[in-house]
Amino acid sequence: MNLYILLYFKMELKCAIQTYDWGKRGTNSIVASLLKSVNPDFLVDEQMNYAELWMGTHKNGPSYLKDTNIPLQKYIEENIETLGRQEVELFGCDLPFLFKVLSIDKALSIQVHPDKKTAKELHDLYPNIYKDPNHKPELAIALSPFETLCGFRPIDEIKDYLNNIPELFAVVGENNILNLSQAAVSLTDDALKQCFYSLMTCDSTKVQQQLKNLISRLCVADESYRQWVKADILERLYNDYPGDVGCFTLYLFNYVILQPGEAIYIGPNIPHAYFSGDCIECMACSDNVIRAGLTPKPKDVETLIKVLSFERDSSVNKIQSFQDDMFTQIFRPPVSEFAVAKITLPLGQLTYNLIPRNSASILLIIDGKANISSKIFSRGSVLFISANDRVEVKVLSDCHPMVMFQAFSNIKNF
Ligand SMILES: [Zn+2]
Repeated sequence: MNLYILLYFKMELKCAIQTYDWGKRGTNSIVASLLKSVNPDFLVDEQMNYAELWMGTHKNGPSYLKDTNIPLQKYIEENIETLGRQEVELFGCDLPFLFKVLSIDKALSIQVHPDKKTAKELHDLYPNIYKDPNHKPELAIALSPFETLCGFRPIDEIKDYLNNIPELFAVVGENNILNLSQAAVSLTDDALKQCFYSLMTCDSTKVQQQLKNLISRLCVADESYRQWVKADILERLYNDYPGDVGCFTLYLFNYVILQPGEAIYIGPNIPHAYFSGDCIECMACSDNVIRAGLTPKPKDVETLIKVLSFERDSSVNKIQSFQDDMFTQIFRPPVSEFAVAKITLPLGQLTYNLIPRNSASILLIIDGKANISSKIFSRGSVLFISANDRVEVKVLSDCHPMVMFQAFSNIKNF
């Protein structure tokens, strides 16, 4: 009876992957290596881009119970108590979050995710383009050095770039730049908006020519200028997306490198693009994206401009964790749908009881091997854990620290 209950409440999941073309290839991708680790028969295709691992119930990549092949969504609907009372009251009969691993080789599109109200309006108006009515705040925790563009730079940095990179000056336009330079503080957002709009809607032939000019000029520029212009990054972007107007946004958005363990929170309407590296990502269960550049996918600059936040604070998006206990640190973004715990068991720590959560959770093992409820799980294993369940982890292989990430609803603070 005991065994039955234990197995019932901790279900191993079989998860979907996404092979977008910006993903790292073959065994270089952590997504492929996690998959291979739990499925030794899985053949990694070295030509394939293994971009994302999806853990959850989103219809574009649902997880299944590994033993029975039942969709997790169906299992939850038939065992609603697994979600916990508060989660059901707040979000209904589904997991409110989507948990992912990303492995990025080249930049993802420049994008924003609209707030809840706008997401629904866009879906009602254009259901074929905006297929998802939910908002998509997201949290990324770096597993390796992780490059991003995120939010607008401080205004003085933007003005400096606009006035001192002639090719950028040409595509944004003299009048717009003059207006921004002379704008009173209260009108800065409007002037910046006009500059951004002018850049994003600039004739594509002109953009291509100016980018080409800039790249040629940088080949012979001195090192200090190259550093100031962030030439290495621009050249990389240009190589991946030649002629794409998104290359110029390097000079408008904050360029941030997260070190492993650091995290960034992307709230509604904040422009961002992830450039390279591996991360754990969690978000409200949604796939709602408005794209503006660095992508072959459809762009929607008009909608983007309408919703875009012109907030400018380079530190606003980094999110600090706090210790839940000695081994568990937790990232709690300011939304109710999700929080993520990172659990690190150092060498010699052979048993540990996960902190029970009042909602259902998904646990991913990144490193190590353990006995959980009389079954062995290791790197790449993904478990669905019911609300309030007690989970004892007995570490088996004491040659690495054991590292796990656990996603659950953030209803404690709401
Ligand atoms: Zn995003």
